[in-house]
Amino acid sequence: MDYTLGVDIGTTSVKTVLYDVKGKVHGYSNNGYPLYQDTPDMAEEDPEEIFSAMSDGITELVRKANMKPGELKGVAFSCAMHSLILLDENHKPLTRAITWGDNRAVNYADKLKASPEGMEIYKHTGTPIHPMTPLTKLIWLRNDHADLFKQARWFVGIKEYILYKLFGVLKEDYSIANATGMFNIYNMDWDEQALKLAGVTRDQLPDLVDTTYQLKGMREEYAKVLGIDINTPFIIGASDGPLANLGVNAIQPGVVAVTIGTSGAVRVVTDKPHTDPKARVFCYYLAKNMWVVGGPVNNGGVVFRWVRDQLCAPEKVTAEQMHIDPYDLLTEIAAKVPAGSDGLLFFPFLGGERAPIWDANARGSFFGLNRTHTRAHMIRAVLEGIVYNLYTVALALEEVVGQPTSIQASGGFARSALWRQMLTDIFEQDVAIPESFESTALGAATLGMYSLGLIDSLSDVSNFVGTTVVHHPDPKNFQAYRELIPIYIRLSRSLQPEYKNIAEYQRRHEHEDEDAEKSE
Ligand code: ADP
Repeated sequence: MDYTLGVDIGTTSVKTVLYDVKGKVHGYSNNGYPLYQDTPDMAEEDPEEIFSAMSDGITELVRKANMKPGELKGVAFSCAMHSLILLDENHKPLTRAITWGDNRAVNYADKLKASPEGMEIYKHTGTPIHPMTPLTKLIWLRNDHADLFKQARWFVGIKEYILYKLFGVLKEDYSIANATGMFNIYNMDWDEQALKLAGVTRDQLPDLVDTTYQLKGMREEYAKVLGIDINTPFIIGASDGPLANLGVNAIQPGVVAVTIGTSGAVRVVTDKPHTDPKARVFCYYLAKNMWVVGGPVNNGGVVFRWVRDQLCAPEKVTAEQMHIDPYDLLTEIAAKVPAGSDGLLFFPFLGGERAPIWDANARGSFFGLNRTHTRAHMIRAVLEGIVYNLYTVALALEEVVGQPTSIQASGGFARSALWRQMLTDIFEQDVAIPESFESTALGAATLGMYSLGLIDSLSDVSNFVGTTVVHHPDPKNFQAYRELIPIYIRLSRSLQPEYKNIAEYQRRHEHEDEDAEKSE
């Protein structure tokens, strides 16, 4: 048997999956690590804890599979985007891994975004100017932590650090580099203007390589721990968003991948880089002639979770007594209300928002409430609001790359037939739910198999991914949405100027509450 390991270094855990060359799963391991948040806007992780999680995952699967020498053909990586670690001259970390969720660069990001230079840089890096990116984190560190910044000899992400420990070389794939905000998508090289702004030089960054690049000749001590041959090829792989598209088989032109997990995203693969005159979408490299254009949203299933916990505490208790998932009870209640929630709209921006409005100050709201509306209306309106928001991202995407031809949807939301149908009706498109286990790890393994010559083309992924169910738009429902979506879009624009004011008010009061607590 020939095996490939897909290793997905995520925000909360490393997921490791063992596949054969037919894409069949032979083992799975999930190894978590804590997020360090000493202050609300900090989001760091310990590089050594992530390294151990990676190492534990591989060791466990290799041991359990009882492989013969030579059966493990390669190990391929996916990694969360935008992490930053400062290393000293001996490649020892001076910081933890500062993750995409860390918001401390916000003031520098806002300032750059508002300047003409911000737009220029977006246009040749394909990465929105945002505190998530290493570019803005470097500007923040250089200004606010100058001593630390000066001590640093290298600036890398978590995957580069892990591979350095294993192989003793600093390499960065185009896809992860792309997401730093300092990579020129037209020259396929570090972007001089962005580097200057960050205050770093190319000799402080890893060498750039393609996503199919193989590392060989691991340090013996680690090969022993992992239980593998030191010459087992490690395929550097790409970042998680683009690999998720590959892993749900959304790589043909016009096939849009919509994900609603805790957060959400809308993404499509194109054969060349594209950017948006309004800077609403990202453009990240996947593999040769494959670019992933799309928008990430903060407010996916996490908003439904808020409804479950804050608006529907009684239903949650009932569901627990009935031994059913509270989400299933809530969607059952929502199903009793017609499409469009009798004119109740919901803006899901509880956690600020990235695409399409890119406004960290955005806040949520119900609009159109009347006395006949019930809690069931509110639940349904929330589910619809999350999808309206993703739909507006899809509209932005359509302006940049053209009309979608079909939709592949995935994430926790897909457990609900009602929510899947809502997506179908609001998008007025057939929606297929692909059957793939851990799409991102599968994307990595597929890229790995391609690099190793075990498959001829990335489109062979279609043999690995099945379809569980296909939904078709229901004319009864989409009429309502056709009337309501324009109202949602107009309202969305008119609410925007007030987000900053309400967020400032909330922040001021948060501090007052904290101060009051301290003095008690
Ligand atoms: P993650 O993005 O963390 O991997 P998932 O993809 O599992 O998470 O998505 C979790 C979200 O999926 C939950 O917040 C919830 O909104 C939604 N969800 C989970 N189960 C159901 C269900 N039975 N019905 C509707 N939504 C669900």
